[in-house]
Amino acid sequence: MGEFELIRRFFAAAPCAQTAAGVALGIGDDCALLQLAAGEQLAVSTDTLVAGVHFPDPCDAFLLGQRALAVAASDLAAMGAAPLAFTLALTLPAAEAAWLEAFARGLGQMAHGCGLALVGGDTTRGPLSLTLTVFGRLPAGLALTRSGARVGDLLCVGGSLGDAAGALALVLGQQQVEEALAAPLLARYWAPQPQLALGQLLRGKATAALDISDGLLADCGHIARASGVALLIERERLPLSPALLAIYDREAALNHALAGGDDYRLAFTLPAAQMAELQAAWPELTVVGRVEQGEGVQLLDAGGRSLDLPETGYQHFRP
Ligand code: ADP
Ligand code: MG
Repeated sequence: MGEFELIRRFFAAAPCAQTAAGVALGIGDDCALLQLAAGEQLAVSTDTLVAGVHFPDPCDAFLLGQRALAVAASDLAAMGAAPLAFTLALTLPAAEAAWLEAFARGLGQMAHGCGLALVGGDTTRGPLSLTLTVFGRLPAGLALTRSGARVGDLLCVGGSLGDAAGALALVLGQQQVEEALAAPLLARYWAPQPQLALGQLLRGKATAALDISDGLLADCGHIARASGVALLIERERLPLSPALLAIYDREAALNHALAGGDDYRLAFTLPAAQMAELQAAWPELTVVGRVEQGEGVQLLDAGGRSLDLPETGYQHFRP
């Protein structure tokens, strides 16, 4: 199977690559053409996943397809963008039909769930790696950036934290637990659900937002820096899932929630006056802290005392 047959069979012919709203021209030409309405901005984000760095190699191709797109689409959620389209640059050691079929199925399932159309890409031979670029639509001026947090705002998250970090030991085979306990955590690692609806709900309400990919502490540091404020996190308020607490004691679970990666939940700052309405619309919304004058991130215990920060998020190239 050559490059062009591969593209045709597994990607151009996939359901997620067929005509979609906002896509004037999809796969097959030198560029895809995306159509925005007047007054809209295009939100663009790229993510690369490298075998052995971002996912274990070998791994299940279907799950990898799901996860690769979920991770990329989460950035659209974080900006409050409505999903539009994505491209896939795929580098593969070999063209194996069974692997490609499963990968394309996983990708297609997540694309369908997110409402994203596959509009192009590139296919090359080499060590397994994936680069996905996602495109979303935003009413001009309404993007949720990291820089608008204001003193007095509440710090909120869009759902339970630490599940994917808790799953990592299972994914890597370092820990074994019975299937029924492992399944809900593994699902949060392999198929995180980008919080696209929440992101759009936060437009015009949240003052700052991002998606948590490197752990709550590390990512809140980004909001604090960009906004020129301090973020205070109250440890006892962190939402922990029953699935996480079924495997880890509370201390370990809290550590996963604070310093583990791969949550892909939204973290955002919100004027207190917006709280009641949003919580009614999004029951998993949890207040975990507040914005104060100062800089950086502080962790507080139940009595409001400052705690030492655990080792934070993974960084490539860190010595
Ligand atoms: P070019 O040589 O002009 O860069 P290619 O031959 O690489 O084009 O790709 C042909 C068409 O197939 C283009 O529309 C491209 O976007 C699309 N394509 C290539 N690889 C993929 C892929 N993995 N997934 C989706 N579309 C792809
Ligand atoms: Mg090319």
